[in-house]
Amino acid sequence: MAKEELECSFCGRKKPETNLLIAGLDAHICDRCIEQAHGIVLEESKQSDNSELSTELMLRKPQQIKGFLDEYIIGQEYTKKVMSVAVYNHYKRLLQPASEDDIEIQKSNIIMVGQTGTGKTLMAKTIAKMLNVPLAIVDATVLTEAGYVGEDVESILTRLLQAADYNLEKAEKGIVFIDEIDKIARKSDNPSITRDVSGEGVQQALLKLLEGTVVNVPPKGGRKHPDQKFIEVNTEHILFIAGGAFDGIERIISKRLNMAAIGYKAAHDDDQVDANNLLQYIIPKDLKDFGLIPEIIGRLPVLTYMDPLDAATLRAILTEPKNAIIKQYKKLFEMDDIDFTITDEALDYIVEKAIEYKLGARGLRSLCEEILTDAMFEMPSSDDNKLNVTRSYAEDKLNKTALKKLKAVS
Ligand code: ADP
Repeated sequence: MAKEELECSFCGRKKPETNLLIAGLDAHICDRCIEQAHGIVLEESKQSDNSELSTELMLRKPQQIKGFLDEYIIGQEYTKKVMSVAVYNHYKRLLQPASEDDIEIQKSNIIMVGQTGTGKTLMAKTIAKMLNVPLAIVDATVLTEAGYVGEDVESILTRLLQAADYNLEKAEKGIVFIDEIDKIARKSDNPSITRDVSGEGVQQALLKLLEGTVVNVPPKGGRKHPDQKFIEVNTEHILFIAGGAFDGIERIISKRLNMAAIGYKAAHDDDQVDANNLLQYIIPKDLKDFGLIPEIIGRLPVLTYMDPLDAATLRAILTEPKNAIIKQYKKLFEMDDIDFTITDEALDYIVEKAIEYKLGARGLRSLCEEILTDAMFEMPSSDDNKLNVTRSYAEDKLNKTALKKLKAVS
């Protein structure tokens, strides 16, 4: 074939009419057809994404779900087990064809009670990662009843839509993590005296989202864009996970368990009550006594608790999860061809400090930053390609920063 006769085998355009003509074995394709084909591929893969979701979900049994959580989350055995079952049931319900019998599987929305920094957000993130579904993390404290200053509860779904890149189908199978749910509790558990409008009103507004309904959602959120068209989002298949510290709920639990919270020592083994971790005895009634309305509790039927993090757990968090903090630093240094190691004594020291300063798991990262910043600043431009962090190295760096901070105060 002479050169000037070349044409696109798909649209028939002659070579001069195209910007680019690519030759295959015995066919040619022009730039425009490539773009069109690319569009089709994207569209197709979007659709198959959704069907992938269902087959993948069908394959994962609760024990496998827990196995996945184990890779990222240390300890919290009870919650991991409960979550695995709840998530499994949730997606079983979702994949269930409309049945002839009248058995309707109730939604398994979850509520997690536990101190801050014990891994509640991590739990929700890990589940979303495993299922490859969009996740919206929202703070209940910013929510208000419609008409008040703050965000309407519908904004939760705006966030979910954004997390799903506005793919409605994906958003409707996503996960919403509502943090600090305890902050919208009624201040008094006697509804007849102080009706705490802000808290209870938000709880009421949340109710309809939790169970499953069609909500008009402003895609850009807020009230700043009054002209935007609403998107109808069905919340029936959205999994809601709520989390909160519920400060002081131990008192309610211990009262119920009929023991004095103050002065009680774990030494009373014969009672079989572990006073160091009262949360493990939590029941829905305790949430009601704390100030959640019964309807909300009913719509968060899976109740679970987080264990406080002890030294051994903190130590494991540093090195064991798939993306453990220390592994991340190792990778960062590796990119500069620096061999980074840290001794067991140095790791123990970091844990000691995290406990001493009451920083919890969240503090582990900031302590590591304090210790390693100098090295991360200096080493990439030096010939040194080995860093071994010992306890005394860590002590030295931390003491320096502590001193600096003291100076800033005085
Ligand atoms: P919460 O939501 O309960 O306040 P987060 O999930 O935000 O706590 O946890 C804070 C930090 O501590 C995160 O960086 C997380 O990676 C880490 N972390 C907390 N608990 C665990 C755990 N059990 N296993 C692994 N990492 C944890």
